[in-house]
Amino acid sequence: MSDQQVYAGMKAAFIGSECYPFVKTGGLGDVMYALPRALLRQGCDVRVILPCYLCIPEKYRERMTWKGSFMMNLTQDGRSFHVGIMELDLDGVTYDFIDNREFFDWGNPYTGLWEDIPKYCYFSKAALAALNYLDWIPDVIHCHDWQAALVPVYLRTLFDVTPVGAARSVLTIHNLRFQGICGIDHLKYWTGLPDYLFDYSVFKVNDREANMFKGGLAYTDRITTVSETYAQEIQTDFYGEGLNSHLWYHRAKLTGIVNGIDTDIWNSRTDKLLPAPYGEADALAAKRANKKALQERLGLAVDEGRFMVGLISRLTDQKGLDLIDAVFKQIADDGMQVVILGTGDPRYENAFRYYESVYPGQVCAYIKYDESLAHQIYAGADALLVPSLFEPCGLTQLIAMRYGTVPIVRETGGLKDTVEPYNAYTGEGNGFTFDRYQADLLLDAVRRAERVYYDERGRWDAIVARDMEKDVSWAHSADLYLKLYAELKG
Ligand code: ADP
Repeated sequence: MSDQQVYAGMKAAFIGSECYPFVKTGGLGDVMYALPRALLRQGCDVRVILPCYLCIPEKYRERMTWKGSFMMNLTQDGRSFHVGIMELDLDGVTYDFIDNREFFDWGNPYTGLWEDIPKYCYFSKAALAALNYLDWIPDVIHCHDWQAALVPVYLRTLFDVTPVGAARSVLTIHNLRFQGICGIDHLKYWTGLPDYLFDYSVFKVNDREANMFKGGLAYTDRITTVSETYAQEIQTDFYGEGLNSHLWYHRAKLTGIVNGIDTDIWNSRTDKLLPAPYGEADALAAKRANKKALQERLGLAVDEGRFMVGLISRLTDQKGLDLIDAVFKQIADDGMQVVILGTGDPRYENAFRYYESVYPGQVCAYIKYDESLAHQIYAGADALLVPSLFEPCGLTQLIAMRYGTVPIVRETGGLKDTVEPYNAYTGEGNGFTFDRYQADLLLDAVRRAERVYYDERGRWDAIVARDMEKDVSWAHSADLYLKLYAELKG
């Protein structure tokens, strides 16, 4: 029997706070888009449940159809809230948007914990209520990050004896840093959940605080995270974000499954955003043409032969930007071009703006979120920096490899699992790596890459070719998720 037949009839509901192309702030949005499609290709029926944020572009809103609405009680004092269900079908995947003006009428999905806690309490409960309302009962409910972490708790408590209670749950950790921590009374009020859940084995952190992710991890049937290395790391003090003991306790149900990327969106052959699309055969010439176009667009000195390093990232401490800051001058003084695309912490935004002013024509700090420029950097740069302090999986190194751009990464989490270090003796490997979180080691990795680029071009070109051939698609990992679902279905 083929896998397709084994999984035919499997039904999975995805519940999460963001999903490309409706709303995306980071890798979670990519996964919520690409994994359901990959599962669908393998015969699984998938629905994705999302909040109906005001910031969802009009072109999608106008295609949504109204599936119904009802009132749902939520809080400890029995306040009821409206739940509207808007539906949209995109390439075979059904998206159900939970509509409520009180919670989702803000510009951005995340507006600060004080509002976000009630918002995602409401969303988690409404998502389960919507499945009952739609009479679409999945085998598995796949929840993502802290925003959907209450789902497994609601499922086994208030919804246990309702139709959707027949489903099993999987909770995926995309980033353990964000957990949804607030006062115990605040969470009790907004969830309306019984007091016995507010003990140390479920929500309680200390005498004052409760943690939504902690409760979800305790109640879900399976926990996954987005790489095998991160699955190990989060059971340690350094990476565990205060939940390491809790995760160690639940380790029997924890596995790591590495993310892939959507190879239709990230396809250098068909990418309409590229000045010069390319395949493996013409990559070297086309990458030079893309570099030239990028230099012209960004006002950098036009020189196709000059080593160009890119950075596409949220500008936060997680991403290892203090290391880059510490050795920026040495990197720039070597003469290479540096292109930064990102927004976030003003400390880093300002540091990179400053370097742009010191190195005009050589450094570009593009402090924005810009999909089209991201594509052009992936295609035009020679190397991409990802020196993260921690990195659950990381998608930018996968996209870079697919576009023949060589990643320079720290060996942590998914970066360690997806980038094989370049071996100077054999010439093998996918990128340049360093292990300890030290700026001098980052500088060394950048310089090793630069030397191979200028002095051993045959070897560099071989890395480019190898990276483009590497399978970074979802096919294998989607299969692993389906096996997990099948185990849960029993
Ligand atoms: P994280 O989820 O921690 O932000 P990932 O590497 O998993 O990091 O995913 C980042 C995603 O967001 C990638 O698709 C990357 O191309 C995209 N991205 C990050 N910053 C920007 C930006 N400023 N403009 C466009 N895309 C960006």
